Amino acid sequence: MLYSDLAETFDRLESTGSRLEMTSILAEFFRRADKAELRSIVYLSQGKLHPDFVPGVLGMADRLVMKAIAKASGNPDDKVEKLTVETGDLGQVAEAMISRKKQMALFSEELTVARVVKGLTTIENAEGKDSQDVKQKTLAGLLHDSGPLEARYLCRTVTGRMRVGAADMTILDALAEAFATKEDRPTIERAFNVTCDIGLVAETIANGGMDAVLAIGVKVGSPVKVMLAERLPSIAEVVEKMGGRCAMEYKYDGIRVQAHIGRDSVKLYSRRLEDLTSNFPDIAEALRARCRHGEAIIEGECVAVDPETGYMLPFQNVTHRRKKHGMDEAVRDVPVRIFMFDMLYADGRDWTSEPYLDRRAALESGFEIGDNVQMTTMRMVGSPEEGEDFFASAIGARCEGIMAKSVAPDSVYRAGSRGFLWIKYKKDYQQALTDSFDLAVVGAFYGMGKRAGRYGALLMAAYDNETGRFETVCKLGTGFDDAFLDAMPALLDGTLSETRPSSVDAEMVPDVWFDPAVVLEVVAAEITLSPIHTAAKDVLKEGAGLGIRFPRFTGRVRDDKTPEQCTTVSEIVEMYGMQVHDSDGLSE
Ligand code: ATP
Repeated sequence: MLYSDLAETFDRLESTGSRLEMTSILAEFFRRADKAELRSIVYLSQGKLHPDFVPGVLGMADRLVMKAIAKASGNPDDKVEKLTVETGDLGQVAEAMISRKKQMALFSEELTVARVVKGLTTIENAEGKDSQDVKQKTLAGLLHDSGPLEARYLCRTVTGRMRVGAADMTILDALAEAFATKEDRPTIERAFNVTCDIGLVAETIANGGMDAVLAIGVKVGSPVKVMLAERLPSIAEVVEKMGGRCAMEYKYDGIRVQAHIGRDSVKLYSRRLEDLTSNFPDIAEALRARCRHGEAIIEGECVAVDPETGYMLPFQNVTHRRKKHGMDEAVRDVPVRIFMFDMLYADGRDWTSEPYLDRRAALESGFEIGDNVQMTTMRMVGSPEEGEDFFASAIGARCEGIMAKSVAPDSVYRAGSRGFLWIKYKKDYQQALTDSFDLAVVGAFYGMGKRAGRYGALLMAAYDNETGRFETVCKLGTGFDDAFLDAMPALLDGTLSETRPSSVDAEMVPDVWFDPAVVLEVVAAEITLSPIHTAAKDVLKEGAGLGIRFPRFTGRVRDDKTPEQCTTVSEIVEMYGMQVHDSDGLSE
């Protein structure tokens, strides 16, 4: 297939704001795409070459891309640079320059998708001292044979700014529309949730239909999207929601790890699918040694322990370990334990469809528990009093709260979903009405006074997982210390966007926009109806969205979360409901 075909589709996607229209554009394209190339096409439409859990990131510095554009279009470097400063978008610059070149050039070989994948793979894999040169030459070679539109998307791809809005959920909708029915949509999504590989799902459905999709299962080496918890404002409500009886576990304050234990090797994935194995070599080794199965997938929380007292330490100590250089030293200075809480797979058996208590029993008997491999502390609870008692012991053990888990027959492991089979209750809930929020930075305002010359406040957004859009909830200017104010440009400027990113809905206009990438933890006094913020616009009241009042940055950059994993708009609507409910209670 020609890359121009793909570029035209990207252009059409970019020019529509309607998700329904995007879905039908993609569905129509998927139907006529070469089946053998569909996997690559799906990755390319998200600006990638492979799923996130495969190591390697496609990336080129703007400076190198400018040089490649100059070379391919026969323009001097300074001319390209000038246009880049004017437009701020290398995609547009490439498009303009290549279009001028095209009017002059007579021949060039048409660019196929296969050749683009090959070139981009060379760029991604380039290493060592010649790598800059290799990247620049490879891109220039591709641009040489590009038309203007192709040049636009090639440059956006290599700079990590694809922005055509092909979110996972839109692609899954399009796959259902192209190759199956609406009723099949949940099954297609499950296949994605248990493999985290949208290209694999696309290839499978295109070649083998729904039968093949149904056969996709959990397997070692392919991370499973994590199951998440709902929240409720009191232990009594948690117990009631669980039907009067549930399991409660300590909620440890560490880093969630999904361990894929193979016969000879172990891989540890974070909840955003990064490979964390090199940060926890001791845990990986202990899990392999203590696992009674040949292969298994388990989940647990890695928590730092004070080597002197044996007490658990707050999460910062684990992240500190991630940043340490000498791993041997870190393993000694910051001992870590894994507290295991779930079993997803063992020796050919998919445990995700089994009830919680069976999974827990399988987990416990599947390992020789001891030293740095432990089970989470768990107790069966049959009343609010027993729940309160367990919560008090969790806090006493320096945990952040409890996780209640359903023991009903349908208490399966719901990959990729947040539901009431798990409910969290944290000690923070006793001070504020709401949980903390993890919000994506989508813009910044220049500071004044003491903050002049720096970013003074940030525009923060929640994620709407139904529509794949980011909707604003607050302007955040509190909780930044000097070190963070200084660090902000390095943290954020890589995602600067000349205009409002197409995935962001905002009425407030910041001085600069960012593509959603960085997630910050924020606490706030309350959630209120807001005329200016766009989260849940018109949902609760015509003309109003939801905003959060007196937001404050906690100091925690959630680099373990992707922007799509930040607090969702529906969670905020729910938390708003919890507040109203609470004040109803007070007024009685
Ligand atoms: P938070 O910011 O509160 O940790 P989250 O959005 O990361 O929330 P939630 O599903 O809301 O995720 O809360 C569950 C998180 O708590 C898990 O992702 C995991 O990291 C952690 N955790 C700690 N102890 C447990 C446990 N016993 N069972 C499940 N998760 C646990």
